Amino acid sequence: MDENVKTFMEKVIEKNPGEKEFHQAVQEVSESIMPFIEKNPKYKKAKILERLVEPERAVTFRVAWVDDKGEIQVNRGYRIEFSSAIGPYKGGLRFHPSVNLSILKFLGFEQIFKNSLTGLPMGGGKGGSDFNPRGKSDMEIMRFCQSFMMELFRHIGPNTDVPAGDIGVGGREIGYLFGMYKKLRNEFTGVLTGKGINWGGSLIRPEATGFGGVYFASEMLKLKNDSFKGKTVALSGFGNVAWGSAIKINELGGKVVTLSGPDGCIYDKDGIKAEKIEYMLEMRASNNDRVEDYAKKFGVPFYAGKRPWDVKCDIAMPCATQNELDLNDAKTLIKNGCILVAEVSNMGCTIDAAKLLTEKIMYAPGKAVNAGGVAVSGLEMSQNSMRLNWTIEEVDKQLHQIMKNIHDASVRYGRVSKDKVDYIKGANIAGFVKVADAMLDQGIV
Ligand code: GLU
Repeated sequence: MDENVKTFMEKVIEKNPGEKEFHQAVQEVSESIMPFIEKNPKYKKAKILERLVEPERAVTFRVAWVDDKGEIQVNRGYRIEFSSAIGPYKGGLRFHPSVNLSILKFLGFEQIFKNSLTGLPMGGGKGGSDFNPRGKSDMEIMRFCQSFMMELFRHIGPNTDVPAGDIGVGGREIGYLFGMYKKLRNEFTGVLTGKGINWGGSLIRPEATGFGGVYFASEMLKLKNDSFKGKTVALSGFGNVAWGSAIKINELGGKVVTLSGPDGCIYDKDGIKAEKIEYMLEMRASNNDRVEDYAKKFGVPFYAGKRPWDVKCDIAMPCATQNELDLNDAKTLIKNGCILVAEVSNMGCTIDAAKLLTEKIMYAPGKAVNAGGVAVSGLEMSQNSMRLNWTIEEVDKQLHQIMKNIHDASVRYGRVSKDKVDYIKGANIAGFVKVADAMLDQGIV
């Protein structure tokens, strides 16, 4: 590791003890940014990176609610308002038992660069709770969301902080959260994105992360005069992100052969298409958090406790959660002839896996590949401000263009040689410059 990065990381670790996911995200960014800052002393002098790793504000709060048996439950809620340099804080809410300060700080930190890459005026934030939606009834989900919003409402607003969905938070949860916000504030505003289509949501928002990821990967392939046509693709996850990716991959002539859940993975050699993609929505809605049901329904093999990375594929797209693809998985994928890994989940690959994939094949990080979700959230905010709804074609066209722009900006800053691009470096620097310049303009705050 570079000496400057090492010294910087020692301070970050000392100040944020035990937050290993946050350390990982900061290390990945500083390894790309440090050499760039050395060449641009204005950023160094203004201590931009030192300021960026400190959230502007982080709130944690008690979420007490009553379950169906009449028992009182207590969870912890969070909102990390990381950076408002280029717009209101913007980023999702994650409801998952693994949620803690480290995970939300890593996600909020990544969100700063991701949102900047979209070219839209959005700062970075993230929030959520250690609430586990698995097995909860609809009424329990509603009561939890209402209690969560009873505190969150005082920290957010359409010009302050605009949350959205993430793992465990989809259209239903956004509905319950919005209903409570509206009741408390007596205002109908675009305070959340991912809203229902009849009450301020944007068309294509549910599909946006997956569609955007496939658009991005298509641009990577295009650099090699290649495309998704005829490619076998391994996906992980089975939620909203994997669903959107599967639809678009099928449309472009690729074949999706795997999905995974906390219980294991499935292998469908005939391809996950048509009604099988529809079934993914049913699995998500069931709140069971398992993919074995797919194997039972369609008679395909299920591998308990396994991830899908030892399947032979041309392209791998992690769509589940952080650190779901490690160095050994990367080696197996390369050995099996995989040519491209596009991370649609946030920080889906460990640092060593991402480095190896960049060196040997093509790899792009989540903050670039999955920016389509928050990009369409940004378009939802624009439509809300104008009190207008755009058509599917209009939103999809803008999403496609944004993903192409992110790809081109990553290539501009990440080009290593004629046929090699370091997308980690490219995305980090491209995302950083806009935020850093805004911070220089706005003084020491
Ligand atoms: N949770 C998504 C992400 O990781 C979307 C955030 C949003 O739409 O604000 O980018």
